[in-house]
Amino acid sequence: DTTIFWFRRDLRLTDNAGLYHALRDNKPVVPVFIFDTEILDALEDPGDRRVAFIHQTLAELKEQLETLGTSLVVLYGNPVTLYRSLHPRAVYTNHDYEPYARARDNAVQALLEKKGVAFHTCKDQVIFDKDEVVKDDGKPYTVFTPYSRRWKARLTPFYLKRYPVEKYTGHFKKIKHQPFPALEDLGFRGTGASFPERVIRTGIIEKYDRTRDFPAIQGTTRLSIHIRFGTVSIRRLCQVALRKNPVWLNELIWREFYAMILWHFPQVQTASFKPAYDRIAWRNDPAEFDRWCTGQTGYPIVDAGMRELNATGFMHNRVRMITASFLTKHLLIDWRWGEAYFGQKLLDYDLASNNGGWQWAAGSGCDAAPYFRVFNPALQTKKFDPDYAYIKKWVPEYQDGAYARPVVEHAFARQRALNTYKKTLG
Ligand code: FAD
Repeated sequence: DTTIFWFRRDLRLTDNAGLYHALRDNKPVVPVFIFDTEILDALEDPGDRRVAFIHQTLAELKEQLETLGTSLVVLYGNPVTLYRSLHPRAVYTNHDYEPYARARDNAVQALLEKKGVAFHTCKDQVIFDKDEVVKDDGKPYTVFTPYSRRWKARLTPFYLKRYPVEKYTGHFKKIKHQPFPALEDLGFRGTGASFPERVIRTGIIEKYDRTRDFPAIQGTTRLSIHIRFGTVSIRRLCQVALRKNPVWLNELIWREFYAMILWHFPQVQTASFKPAYDRIAWRNDPAEFDRWCTGQTGYPIVDAGMRELNATGFMHNRVRMITASFLTKHLLIDWRWGEAYFGQKLLDYDLASNNGGWQWAAGSGCDAAPYFRVFNPALQTKKFDPDYAYIKKWVPEYQDGAYARPVVEHAFARQRALNTYKKTLG
């Protein structure tokens, strides 16, 4: 008669909606995490840092649970198959919105319900779900500003209320310490990489609108990996944002905007939001793509960004915009190639935000930059890395004026992009 709480993108004990409901309404509750082989098998790099991050976070979570007299049951396999042989009274978890996760959860739910086991899932990752912020006629927004206005108008303290898990920790099942797989047991290895700390730096948030665009300084919070895996609560972050800086709140709303778009328009996963953009005659030159991936384009700001990404799994937002614009406009390579590469490398990889960011840069997305806006890497550098501090950090061989030959000349590439886009889009 045990109840399972299934951890996924919510790897924390505090202010966790699903965990709170599981414990409040049930006893005893066993915490479970499943290393989903459907996801792990698709990863190409045994040194994938995200698996290492999850692994490290689970070790911490398990330790915390053990101080509460319970533990963490870590399973490995296909969740649908695993649930076939489990017979709990109920399963609680938090909503996951990505298309794969939705299909998996539907399958798990159908299977459990056939066995008479209830499957409860709660909203935890976002403040507002897909259909909570819609237009008066019930249709989804496709432009950010009116969406964000409605989002803010809908916000009441109710939506930011903390779920006090700690009130019910007595409802965890008392179990002995559970075995914990090594990364190697899962087919992965550690890289010794360090991860952005789980610290909400209010000083950065207060100054955010003045510091956010300069990649050489830590002017953004670097909380994205923690938001991605739910090691911080989004309700807590919104509370801080409301107190400290509405500009930063907007960033959190962008994330929900893109999640909402992916929900209502799942075709964006593979197709341009604006269908006409799928007729663009991309050049898709593999050698040029390779130079972009490895940070060898001869454009120092682009190369710095790609090298930062390759070395750390992070890239500053300003530089994500520059590198994405460069790939899609200067090199005329299909945004899906860049999206997939970021998807392999980003620690904070999130299907909805990554797809939204890429389609924004390519011009093909909802509320995207107009296609005739082609970022000029030199001007971007002058504005946002004026003393080349970021560039010199990641491209040490860069010396003012003397650097590798550009893969393509800027003015030529700009004109070629405009011609190509114009030919298709008119
Ligand atoms: P902060 O500037 O401190 O912002 C706080 C949080 O707000 C972020 O952690 C993130 O959760 C959210 N956020 C901020 N900007 C955006 C945005 N434009 N869209 C959606 N959410 C946002 N973000 C991801 O989380 N995952 C991705 O896979 C991703 N891919 C991107 C791809 C491209 C081409 C572009 C242009 C942007 C992408 N972003 C992505 C958005 C943004 O670059 C990162 O969220 C941000 O750089 C993370 O750094 P931070 O935590 O310091 O953010």
